Amino acid sequence: MKTLFYNAKFYSLDEKNNTYSAILCDNDKIIETYKDNYPNIEAQKINLNNSFVLPGFIDTHTHSFEGGLYQQGVDLENCNSIDDILTLLNQANIISDMIFAWRLDENNLKEKRFPTKQELDKVNSHTPILIRRIDGHSCIINTPAEKMILNNNKLDYALPDNGILSGSLNDIAAHTFHKNLDNNAILNCYKQAQTIALQNGHTTIHTMIGDANQSILHYPLMNEHLNDFIIDFEIYPQSFNLEQALKYKAKRIGGCILADGSFGSFTAGLSQAYQDKPINEKGKLYQTQNFWDTFIEQAHKNNLQIGVHCIGDEAIMQIVTAVNKAQLKETKDLRHQLIHCELVRDDMIPEIKKAQMYVVAQPMFDALWGQEYGFYHKVLGEKRYKKLNRYKTLTDNDIIVTGGSDWYITDLAALKGINAAVNHHNKNERLSIKDAIKLYTVNAAKLSFDENNKGMIRKNFKADFVCLDKDIFSTNSINIIKVKRTIKNAKIVFSTET
Ligand SMILES: [Zn+2]
Ligand SMILES: [Zn+2]
Repeated sequence: MKTLFYNAKFYSLDEKNNTYSAILCDNDKIIETYKDNYPNIEAQKINLNNSFVLPGFIDTHTHSFEGGLYQQGVDLENCNSIDDILTLLNQANIISDMIFAWRLDENNLKEKRFPTKQELDKVNSHTPILIRRIDGHSCIINTPAEKMILNNNKLDYALPDNGILSGSLNDIAAHTFHKNLDNNAILNCYKQAQTIALQNGHTTIHTMIGDANQSILHYPLMNEHLNDFIIDFEIYPQSFNLEQALKYKAKRIGGCILADGSFGSFTAGLSQAYQDKPINEKGKLYQTQNFWDTFIEQAHKNNLQIGVHCIGDEAIMQIVTAVNKAQLKETKDLRHQLIHCELVRDDMIPEIKKAQMYVVAQPMFDALWGQEYGFYHKVLGEKRYKKLNRYKTLTDNDIIVTGGSDWYITDLAALKGINAAVNHHNKNERLSIKDAIKLYTVNAAKLSFDENNKGMIRKNFKADFVCLDKDIFSTNSINIIKVKRTIKNAKIVFSTET
């Protein structure tokens, strides 16, 4: 079936910056583009009402299951005090006999601390409560949750009495809560993710599945159900288990498998100590160089694309070094991913380039924490905070940067990421509007080897579009632009218009 989309300005994002006024599609593909007038052809005709159209957005890094799950739970983002938190928890939805809350930033609370286990027990003394910190690297639990975790795991030690868990205990807690959901509840989380993705103009999202350790959790379940979804999910077995990844014929392995933690939890692995911490506190490297060398060599040998979470310069260098060793043995175009890749010293750039690695960035991290005298500045100091999230420097050095939300950490909304990349707090790292859009289109398509069918509006490419109400190339503020419609495979799958 042919469909003609007209009455719009289509930005191709190709090398020549072509724009079109109409596009003809056959089934899910673009078969013709028209600059001005289009011929009278037999086709279903869809009027796009003066929209400005970009290729459908691709978010290259989400935790869609957790995002979809926590979306049904309690959002603590706007809490200013412990009382605010407890009030919201009192009204929480109960999901499979558990309470989930997320996006807690204790720095925004007047008490500047987490709620205690005792305070949470007063809210509910029989239903397990899990509160995730905004960066996902710490959590707080109540007594019923503690019991559930101890019953479900063979731990030969007690949990911290204050109910605050970080590092591997944070993973164990989250894993225990997630494991107690049934298949229907799991698939529902992805449906929730899809709804939000479409509302914000995405037609493809990369999603991490697994507990970041040995288990790939419900990866096979999602693998079987991929065709039940409108959007394309690019799935990642997020674990160190190569055997399982190969068994399920995954194209890649990893995701937020951790080389280090986060700045917020003072666990990002640094070459020099944190600014306002005791001397020599350099964060945490979760694995040895030897571990990464072996793991990455094996994955590379088996033609798996590798993605690793690395934030501090020392952690990033561990991964880059291991990939360079593997590339030296046999050079392959596998597009291995440095996920987050926040603190990049100048001398690291040639090494990243040599490794032919892609940087999977979260521009919203800069918007949230990158302001002068903001969090990054405070913990890293004047000199280092200028070396964070170096989108422009990387791009200028021909290192491909892609955009991701790390949803549930930040909103699943590419326009917010584009806005953040254009308005980077460090003027030297600001991207042009086109380069910022490319993070979520052209570059993102390359990450999954889809550069010949996604990420541009071009003949023989997928008919995946996002229709905006304003022209992103001539507006002063990207943050007032709204997604009017999302079109996937030439079908309108989200619309604010009747
Ligand atoms: Zn992540
Ligand atoms: Zn991560």
